[in-house]
Amino acid sequence: MSAPPRISIEDARRAVVEHAAPLEAEEIGLDDALGRVLAVDAVAPDDLPPFSSSGMDGFALLAGDTRNPPVRLRIVGEARAGALAGMAVEPGTAIRVSTGAQMPEGADAVVRQELTQPGDDEVMVLEEVAAGNDVRYAGEDIPAGATILQGGTLLGAAEIGGLAAVNIARPAVVRRPRLALVSTGDELVDPGRELEPGEIRDANRAALTAATRAAGADVIANLRVGDDLAATIATLAEALQGADVVATVGGVSVGPHDHVRPALESLGADQVFARVSLKPGGQVCFYIAPDGTLVFALPGNPASALTAFRILVVPALYAMLGRSQMLHTARGVAAVDLPGAIGRTSVVRCSAEMRDGGWHVTPNGDQRSHILTSMLGLPALALVPDDREVLHAGEPVDIEFVG
Ligand code: AMP
Ligand code: MG
Repeated sequence: MSAPPRISIEDARRAVVEHAAPLEAEEIGLDDALGRVLAVDAVAPDDLPPFSSSGMDGFALLAGDTRNPPVRLRIVGEARAGALAGMAVEPGTAIRVSTGAQMPEGADAVVRQELTQPGDDEVMVLEEVAAGNDVRYAGEDIPAGATILQGGTLLGAAEIGGLAAVNIARPAVVRRPRLALVSTGDELVDPGRELEPGEIRDANRAALTAATRAAGADVIANLRVGDDLAATIATLAEALQGADVVATVGGVSVGPHDHVRPALESLGADQVFARVSLKPGGQVCFYIAPDGTLVFALPGNPASALTAFRILVVPALYAMLGRSQMLHTARGVAAVDLPGAIGRTSVVRCSAEMRDGGWHVTPNGDQRSHILTSMLGLPALALVPDDREVLHAGEPVDIEFVG
């Protein structure tokens, strides 16, 4: 059997996103909202600010009274944040106010304390102020009925604060995608114990669990299976239960001990693509299981697995989440020669430095696919096109930041 053709990263991403239907919404509390994605536009039920207030410590007064400074006004009361004055400002009078105090009735301006000489009962106002001076008006930030955030927005600290301020206590967010992870290989053991001859530690399980969570999804099952067809079929059948996405790692090439693809086929999964113009990670396969679950079969070398995950699985998860902010991309410059490969887009794991107005990227050591250290502490992936053996220092290059 001849090897299937390689498809481009763009085509592979398009295929993946096309099959990744947006998930349903759920309501959650604001303390759980960090990193979640709004399911629908958030419309403010209330004005922000909810009432007109003083923007300064000083005196609320009638602007007209300050026309010929200095002027002496009688202090008739005080309003603080959370405590109303209880009386109105009338011509010739002022009410002491602190920042955030509701504007007393009658007043149309605030003069800040620094522009006054306050006494016990009277205040001398030293400068003229205009109507509206240092007043924060109700609804001037967000009027009730306005859309504060659009569906698809990733919720961070500021967005969560905004929802709280306009009284959206339980925003509707997209439920997290459920991903089941299956690592394959007779040689794999969990960290935390000594290795027997021939064994290695399962690095991918830990890395892909973290990458899944970082992308806003949950790992609902973390399974491991040895290099055996019947066991692989059984484990994959188990992984498919309740998952939106299954990611397998290892056992995906054509050796006698690679059982993932035959197992998926015997479970009736449809192959969408089997090789991508991608280095490392080009052996990644994408299937749709009979129940609609997306299945990514990732190659086992750690740099291959994580690169293929970032290039293809993360966009699928973002599409399921309906995220409007997708990948963080930029056009950078090669700081040194970047290695390429004819026929495959090379994803060069790089450090990135902002210099002379541009991102300058440098490969992070040995780029072979079993070299785990090439992935450590990375900010950026540089994409060297598939028609270049070398991308020379100083040439422009597309980069994707690892998010
Ligand atoms: P495979 O894709 O199964 O042929 O594996 C390719 C290489 O990656 C082999 O050297 C495996 O031992 C290694 N490998 C496979 N799975 C893992 C894993 N979960 N963690 C670390 N290395 C792995
Ligand atoms: Mg293997």
